[in-house]
Amino acid sequence: MQLQLRHIRRLLSAPALLLAALLLAALLGAVLFGCASYREYTSEFFAMDTVMSIAAYGENAESAASEVERRIYELDALWSIGNPSSDISLLNSGRRDAELNPETDKILREAERVRDMTDGAFDERIFAAAEAWGFYSGEYRVPTQDELRRLISLRDKIDLGAIAKGYASDEAAELLRDAGISSAIINLGGNVYAIGGKPGGGDWTVGVRDPFNLSKNIVTLKLRDRAAVTSGGYERYFEQDGARYHHILDPRTGYPADAGLASVTVVSESGTLADGLSTGLFVLGKERALELWRENRALFDLVLIENDGTVTITEGIKKAGSSGRLTTVAAESIIGIYKNGERIHTAELDAVSEPYDVKAGEGNIVRVAPGEVYMLSADCRDQICVHHAALRRGNGESNRPFDAETPIVCLPNNVVVKWELAP
Ligand code: ADP
Ligand code: MG
Repeated sequence: MQLQLRHIRRLLSAPALLLAALLLAALLGAVLFGCASYREYTSEFFAMDTVMSIAAYGENAESAASEVERRIYELDALWSIGNPSSDISLLNSGRRDAELNPETDKILREAERVRDMTDGAFDERIFAAAEAWGFYSGEYRVPTQDELRRLISLRDKIDLGAIAKGYASDEAAELLRDAGISSAIINLGGNVYAIGGKPGGGDWTVGVRDPFNLSKNIVTLKLRDRAAVTSGGYERYFEQDGARYHHILDPRTGYPADAGLASVTVVSESGTLADGLSTGLFVLGKERALELWRENRALFDLVLIENDGTVTITEGIKKAGSSGRLTTVAAESIIGIYKNGERIHTAELDAVSEPYDVKAGEGNIVRVAPGEVYMLSADCRDQICVHHAALRRGNGESNRPFDAETPIVCLPNNVVVKWELAP
């Protein structure tokens, strides 16, 4: 949808675009079902450079949805980089002393929080680098390494593109809830927020697109009072000399992120967090993404699709359907291998299909096999090793998630193998 729109956008002049957007808004008005026990109101509009839609059910659906629309136009005007008098344009023109709308202060704080959480993989200050690639003008080019190095070292211009729609979805959800709406689905250019369940009962279902076949869904999520946001390299890109350059940049290099992921979907109660994290985790890659998830399991869940097609979902995801090979990662299945107190490897027991070995120094070899991890060999030089045979995930029958809760410890060589989340 976005790609198409951006094409259209380049073809159309600005007034024509406005007209098209107005026509779109006029065409899609209220739908009222008099005979049903609920009222449905749907609207579609264009803001934040994308198509947005709301379907709300209940008494005040129409007025509440109009209020949401108005609010989103307001936020767009505040943060749009195309609007020379927006707060962000003021900041980017060097007016650090500019008096900002409290809402701008708030989203900037949220952006900083996601930046900290992702160790800078999400960074709203990459504007200059993204501009150099032509992602705003549509005049694409490959900048030189020197140019990128210089631009990312500045970090003096802001682009809220990776978090604004998520923030807007939280605002929209709050407005609808305040108006007494207990069933609605909001879609702000792929940033989805589900309020309550479907009007007739049951959870909302939302598809996660297959990055390798965009006409297909690979997982269907069941959502209730949750946001779901996907970031993928396929969303916006250009090709030059046979290479593909997409719009999610690694803030450390200024180049398109290349961490082995085709897409990241984040499910969370917070649309802001889901949006920011989907971008940041795409930059970080699978291992770091799962690590962050383990530390913040209460905050979000993930669907990770790797470039080789592997799909990993975390245990909190409720799904209505899926196609292809899917691995669910449970936090309890994570084993850490430590050497001198530092984690040197993280094994996801549920995701191991082929055995492999991890060298832990001084002849210590840890074998990670499907369903278990054990010490294959330990060279403890005549000293006593404290070993346990293996760490194994308990089966459902015994009703114990962990088998061998005691860690494997090789004291002389300072190797520890342990469950990350043992009770
Ligand atoms: P989209 O908004 O296209 O759905 P994202 O939420 O992933 O996708 O945001 C991508 C946009 O955010 C880019 O178009 C760019 O403007 C900006 N951006 C790119 N890389 C980063 C990054 N590492 N951190 C923060 N913002 C980024
Ligand atoms: Mg994002």
